Amino acid sequence: MGKLIVIEGTDGSGKSTQFRLLSQRLEREGRDFRHIVFPRYDQPSSALLKMYLNGDFGPDPASVNPYAASAFYAVDRFCSFRLDWGEYYRGGGVVLSDRYTTSNAVHQAVKVTGQERKEFLEWLYDFEYRRLELPRPDLTLYLDVPTAFTEQLLRRREADTHTHADIHEQDGAYLAACRECGREAAGYYGWTVVACVKNGAMRSVEDIHREIYGHVLTCLEE
Ligand code: ADP
Repeated sequence: MGKLIVIEGTDGSGKSTQFRLLSQRLEREGRDFRHIVFPRYDQPSSALLKMYLNGDFGPDPASVNPYAASAFYAVDRFCSFRLDWGEYYRGGGVVLSDRYTTSNAVHQAVKVTGQERKEFLEWLYDFEYRRLELPRPDLTLYLDVPTAFTEQLLRRREADTHTHADIHEQDGAYLAACRECGREAAGYYGWTVVACVKNGAMRSVEDIHREIYGHVLTCLEE
């Protein structure tokens, strides 16, 4: 088996930015690896999750229960693994992923609390890793950013890219709850937490990158 490294975090936490920097660095070093980004909006396997994010099942995230919504995203991962990178990974390849099963633990587990959340988290890994036979990450880097900062970053990105936030991104209370849920999931599953805010300010992109790169090197050398 190869190595699977995941970058996770709430919306607007800097995943894509860090994913790009890390990919560029590994490329410069001439390392053999592949990268994937979930969800794969351009693939037919994302049809249901696009309907969900578009609000077809209801105007807010709570319109679809966490088990159903998680299944939409899991199906996309199943297709990706089976048709795209499974063989490479099984042959020892290194795969870098922007989001993974871990996103369901952040964005769906938030819909339930207490003991129900623990049951959901247990179900989720069982469903994706055991029943769907998807590989478990060797390293999950969780970018932890307080919601006040992610909201600013999301609005800036909307303005820069002229895109509209989806039903997850529009909902400030939901994003705040996701942050708490993400931290809980990180503790529950043992993810590596990268604290992106220090002394009340967002760390620079380069500073966060250095920390991430260090974790990745350690994982690749293990
Ligand atoms: P995500 O993929 O987690 O949704 P992005 O990487 O798209 O987040 O980042 C959201 C926005 O915040 C982008 O406009 C990005 O340029 C900016 N950004 C990311 N990381 C930082 C940082 N450490 N400091 C300041 N701005 C950042």
